[in-house]
Amino acid sequence: MARVFDRIALLGIGLIGASLARVIRREGLAGEIVVYTRRAETLAKAEALGLGDRYTLDAAEAAAGADLVMLCTPLGAYRALVEAIAPRLVPGAIVSDVGSVKGSVIREIGPLVPAGVHLVPGHPVSGTEHSGPEAGFATLFEGRWCILTPPPGTDPAAVERIAGLWRRAGMMIELMDAAYHDRVLAITSHLPHLIAYSIVDTVVGLERSTRREVVKYAAGGFRDFTRIAASDPVMWRDIFLDNQEAVLEMLGRFSEDLARLQRAIRHGDGEVLEELFTRTRAIRRGVIEAKQA
Ligand code: NAP
Repeated sequence: MARVFDRIALLGIGLIGASLARVIRREGLAGEIVVYTRRAETLAKAEALGLGDRYTLDAAEAAAGADLVMLCTPLGAYRALVEAIAPRLVPGAIVSDVGSVKGSVIREIGPLVPAGVHLVPGHPVSGTEHSGPEAGFATLFEGRWCILTPPPGTDPAAVERIAGLWRRAGMMIELMDAAYHDRVLAITSHLPHLIAYSIVDTVVGLERSTRREVVKYAAGGFRDFTRIAASDPVMWRDIFLDNQEAVLEMLGRFSEDLARLQRAIRHGDGEVLEELFTRTRAIRRGVIEAKQA
């Protein structure tokens, strides 16, 4: 087993951090895994699960001397964390992350990363609606895409080391411009979550008797929305705050298309409905063929 890093510091040990810790362990990718998290309660869970070799509630202590620091917290925590760890980062170290938005990461923490330390932002596009260290599992990333968005001028060797790490997790690697990543994810991930949150909240607003029936007959389609809308509220708050521009653009397009469907239903225009519903089936077939279903 080829060790890729001497010491990896995982800042945040929830679903993604814990899954990555299990991969690092399974593949023997690091000499030492240091785990930082905010609350003692989570740290104790991580320790009970044996996710690291050392555990601390002090981010700077975790990052000290690490050759890879991986940010695995909600996006809103990044700035304070990088401010805290910056003085302890060693030259040649890599700071990377797993956040679901990328432009804001480069804007926010790029300027805080000291000279001689490489910033390689990344996004493993794989997850579940569960959170916390117990939710993590080593096969989470298998067969999925990991998008890396190194800012122009990033050392290619640092990018390759991060790519290698995710390949060992079973991921396929794509390099992308951060702004483009944010547009793509706005439509493929962020907007679907927003729609799910919104439709489930519409049910919350229904009178109690109807609400009971909705839950009872959820298998009719609503169920899938409830799963998505059970995702972590803080993580998703941060995603929408950080990807404001791209989400608003896609939401604008979506609203126009939805209004078109509304009109077709109002006017009894079955042709418009059937045509659209036929077109969308092809997308599903494409997702299945790409083995992303
Ligand atoms: P999670 O299970 O909720 O775990 C979050 C971790 O971050 C915990 O260790 C938590 O610590 C820590 N944390 C939360 N707020 C913090 C703060 N203010 N300061 C310091 N630490 C803090 O989250 P996750 O699902 O692994 O997501 C982590 C990141 O992965 C997010 O940036 C998200 O965008 C990205 N991502 C998620 C998915 C997904 O499907 N979940 C997929 C791809 C990428 P305590 O428990 O100790 O408070």
